[in-house]
Amino acid sequence: MKTATGHLYLHHAQLIDGTGSPAIPDAVVLATDGRITYAGSRTGAPPVPEGAKVIDAKGGTILPGLVEAHFHATYFNVLELQDLDIKYPVEYVSLLSSVNAKLALECGYTAARSGGCLFNVDVWLRRAIEGDLLAGPRLATSGREICSAGGLMDWNPEFRKIGMDGLVFIINGPSEARAAVRALVKDGIEWVKTYPTGDAAAPDTNDHHTLCMTFDEMNAVVQTAHNHKLKVTGHCRATAGIKNALRAGYDCIEHGTFMDDEALEMLLERDVPCVPALYFEKASVERGPEFGLSQAVIDGHQETLDHGAASALRILRAGGRIGLGGDYGFGWNPHGDYAREISFFVKDVGFTPLEAIHCATQTGAEIMGRGQEFGTVEPGKLADLLVVDGDVLEKIELLENRSQFLAVIQGGIIKAGQMTQTVDTWQNTTTMG
Ligand SMILES: [Zn+2]
Repeated sequence: MKTATGHLYLHHAQLIDGTGSPAIPDAVVLATDGRITYAGSRTGAPPVPEGAKVIDAKGGTILPGLVEAHFHATYFNVLELQDLDIKYPVEYVSLLSSVNAKLALECGYTAARSGGCLFNVDVWLRRAIEGDLLAGPRLATSGREICSAGGLMDWNPEFRKIGMDGLVFIINGPSEARAAVRALVKDGIEWVKTYPTGDAAAPDTNDHHTLCMTFDEMNAVVQTAHNHKLKVTGHCRATAGIKNALRAGYDCIEHGTFMDDEALEMLLERDVPCVPALYFEKASVERGPEFGLSQAVIDGHQETLDHGAASALRILRAGGRIGLGGDYGFGWNPHGDYAREISFFVKDVGFTPLEAIHCATQTGAEIMGRGQEFGTVEPGKLADLLVVDGDVLEKIELLENRSQFLAVIQGGIIKAGQMTQTVDTWQNTTTMG
């Protein structure tokens, strides 16, 4: 992805640097050739360099570009589990994923980590974004997910003889687990996404207390993935599934819903991050009836929501790391609503606005393995910034409203927001690659 040339000078705003430190009032951020060279109080700031583009942030807020830590590029208005796999052909799904990526960037998300997708769409989506052919967040990719036969993601009955095509590898035993990871290695993914446990969405045979992979299968995934320098994460709701994942050496826990004391201790011991992805649960409870979800499913989501929120707060208060991402792409939880996850953590879970922003920026970048490059507004980092008209500490829901954004900036280049009209706009290149 190209970075800017020249200077970008932002002023007349409070600065939230993403580290969790208090906001700096009346701040200046200076970026040169796409990287931050100064971030701090106006007192002590360098003068405006000759020829700099100047952004007056209107007394608003400058913060790091947000990081969606659980992004499904290929989900698009999913109404039932079946829609996740074979609703559309891969050609159309690829196009939809580029729409989702552009939307995410417009919503202030300058980076995103895949939580799994159809085929290897996210791998090729990343290539198009990195080549500046498409607008979108910097991506960490997952490709296809892994689940054991009969588990949450293996929903087609045997008589249909159609198995699962694009979304998951259905495995039986450690040797098939290894084969699936080896296929992913060749495809160029970064995170292996697995399904150690079920979910409230499937109350009959794979509810959120059910295990969907054995420890031996999970261990085989981790050994193979780590050998090839890939990371492993998993959909972990049931307590035993969380512990299996941590014992097997998982690098991240998605959801971490039913976290008991022992599981929390194991999580903290290796400082494994957790991505609760709770807004999906909230939306399922609130809008489930409208979309025809059964009462059993809605009750299950309520239980997931209550326990997931309590677990997330315990992890944060115990010094653990939380990434924010809300499993968007369902009919009742559509792409574009990403920052509702942040507001939810402030209003319903009990995070302070600074804590929630820290989780949605620095921790997200760390989970992507790119904490040295972006995620905070500090000298040396890429100028991936979000400039909001208003005080987001006072009113966290301002982050949900992209019409309030003055600028969404990647590598010092303004790519979205009101300022795209008034400052030289990002020029798409036609480099084929
Ligand atoms: Zn997900």
